[in-house]
Amino acid sequence: MSATEYAKPLPKPSPMSEPFWEAARRHELWLQRCADCGQFVFYPRPQCPNCWSAKLEWKQASGRGRIYSYTVVRRATHRAFTEPYVLAIVELEEGARMTTNIEATPEQVRVGMPVSVFFDDVTPDRTLVKFKPA
Ligand SMILES: [Zn+2]
Repeated sequence: MSATEYAKPLPKPSPMSEPFWEAARRHELWLQRCADCGQFVFYPRPQCPNCWSAKLEWKQASGRGRIYSYTVVRRATHRAFTEPYVLAIVELEEGARMTTNIEATPEQVRVGMPVSVFFDDVTPDRTLVKFKPA
């Protein structure tokens, strides 16, 4: 392992979340959507949290949303995170909320701020989904 390799912990896709990560590698945001009630769902799971239907299908999302809530992490729990970073819940246009990073300084971020998705290819086979001010 060289010093230039990505040092932060990486997500470990499960069979349930693999379509999300596969789409991220294509630089697309895909979410589950309930075929019975129409609600978009995040994180990936076997049943709709709104109506308990098991008929969840994968749909491409716009990648646009607003910051629902956020915090600035100044004391990280992993030594690879050296700078303060913005951890936020983004409410997507489709209605689902995602926990994510906002690529912005803490001073730039506000609740309600419009954001858009971008894709950070951190390793040859792993792409992270992040957001930045729109
Ligand atoms: Zn449903």
